[in-house]
Amino acid sequence: MKDLRLEKINIRAVNVPLNKPVIAHLGTFEKWPFLCLDAHTNKGLIGKSYIGPYLVDQLPVIAKCIEALSKPFLNQEIKPYNFFEEGFKKISLLGYQGISIYALAALDIAFWDVYAKAANMPLACLLGSDLKPVKAYNSRGLWLIPLNEIEKETNDLLENGSFNALKVRIGRNKLKDDIYVIEKIRKIGGENLVIMSDFNQCYDYDTALKRMNELDDIGLYWFEEPINYRNFYDCAKLSSRIKTPISIGENFHGPYDLANSIKANASTYIMPDLMRIGGVSGWLKSASIAEAYNLKFSTHLFPEVSAHLMNLTPTAHWLEWVDWANPILQDTGFRVENGKYHIPDIPGTGVEWNDTNIEKYKVNI
Ligand SMILES: [Mg+2]
Repeated sequence: MKDLRLEKINIRAVNVPLNKPVIAHLGTFEKWPFLCLDAHTNKGLIGKSYIGPYLVDQLPVIAKCIEALSKPFLNQEIKPYNFFEEGFKKISLLGYQGISIYALAALDIAFWDVYAKAANMPLACLLGSDLKPVKAYNSRGLWLIPLNEIEKETNDLLENGSFNALKVRIGRNKLKDDIYVIEKIRKIGGENLVIMSDFNQCYDYDTALKRMNELDDIGLYWFEEPINYRNFYDCAKLSSRIKTPISIGENFHGPYDLANSIKANASTYIMPDLMRIGGVSGWLKSASIAEAYNLKFSTHLFPEVSAHLMNLTPTAHWLEWVDWANPILQDTGFRVENGKYHIPDIPGTGVEWNDTNIEKYKVNI
């Protein structure tokens, strides 16, 4: 890894059709936008990362931000730990949240990928751990779809990879519809099925408390994001008044948000997002903070790199499995078997491109 230098970066943008559209309180998405980053080095090795910053119209701006952040590191030796420390200081004038942390994460992940490739080791092994398969739940469906589609969708999600855990989105207009959906899934999946639920921040405090009280005995594994993600103190009040664990964290922008959430006692479980937490480096810092508080740590999207990192997360809990990026990825051997997500034993993160499909779904930036 000595003298591994960054020569240039290249960013491609895509908007990839989803097999099952995301129908959420925050909006309906037929496609999912990604930025695919290549970090070229003097050794011919290329570090790869993708981020999925939700809004296709914002891809050009975020790509520009990645380019700007990369400039001071061109022709420099790639040292991922140092990059994160220096990069974090450099984004202070732009602000530590949002686009700046996404840009930092994109570069951080690509640098760790190429660093592991240069060592000829999978990322989890480079960092001193194993490639143990990770307990996963299926999150690629059961959005706010019509009630008469719940049965087919549940069967589809359980058969695909033989999962014994899945996530349903709730907070429908009528309580009876939430109950119908949950009971239907339970009937199909059986008593041992683990059912996570997600409100996607659809409520204010009072409404959240009422609906969670009404659903508190129905056997859900967790309630995710009942209220606006920034409202740690109200979330703490809800956590203290509801028996079902509350899980938040996909909207932690960097490890400091995670620390503030813990200080506020906001939730029982946490589930940081690889991009928003600040890539591999931001994740590792967060995993140590969570360990100190014995807080169970799940993932959000980005299953490939997150799976490596779950092997280095002392309080690792559940991996959220989605296949949204699969069309733009080469099949390098990631797979789900008996509810566990397996990581291929190849150098780096295992993220390699399907260039034909990247071209097919390309968006100009
Ligand atoms: Mg969520």
